[in-house]
Amino acid sequence: MPFKNAACLLIAMLGLWACNQAQDNTTQTEQHEDISGRTFLSLKGDTLAPVQKSEEEWKAELEDQAFHVLREAGTERAFTGKYWDNKKEGVYTCAGCGLPLFSSKTKFKSGTGWPSFWDPIRPEHVLLETDSSYGMSRTEVLCARCGGHQGHVFDDGPPPTGLRYCINSVSLDFVEGAEMKGGKP
Ligand code: FE
Repeated sequence: MPFKNAACLLIAMLGLWACNQAQDNTTQTEQHEDISGRTFLSLKGDTLAPVQKSEEEWKAELEDQAFHVLREAGTERAFTGKYWDNKKEGVYTCAGCGLPLFSSKTKFKSGTGWPSFWDPIRPEHVLLETDSSYGMSRTEVLCARCGGHQGHVFDDGPPPTGLRYCINSVSLDFVEGAEMKGGKP
């Protein structure tokens, strides 16, 4: 029954096509990992609640460039940010919600023109998501508390992790002299 076989094949191909379409739609929608089991800690070690705001609220409280980078996954130009060459000791917090994200103790000179770290201050404080924009496969780094885009992480960093968290200055604030209770390292 060649006709029946051809019909079956056609139905199977249509099913596959529909499945691919559905997957495409999923990648276009912003979907973040479930953070309900995570604990967010302030510099003093107090527990912080997740932050959820509408894009209108973010737009009202952030400067234009910070909004573009944090909420639209933009990238500041290399060597233009305020922290790529900052050598002071302290803690870098999310410019959107204040969550401690990186310590100066894990900052290193990458030569890229963006602040670079080999580890976050607490693994629970960052979200890592696959980013396939611009035809590249990269791992996006977001603040887990507010979902603010921070940058990307690459596997060409120094020991001990071999990772390079390449972060936008405008996504960060800096608390000079601060150390995080319970933070790494
Ligand atoms: Fe945040």
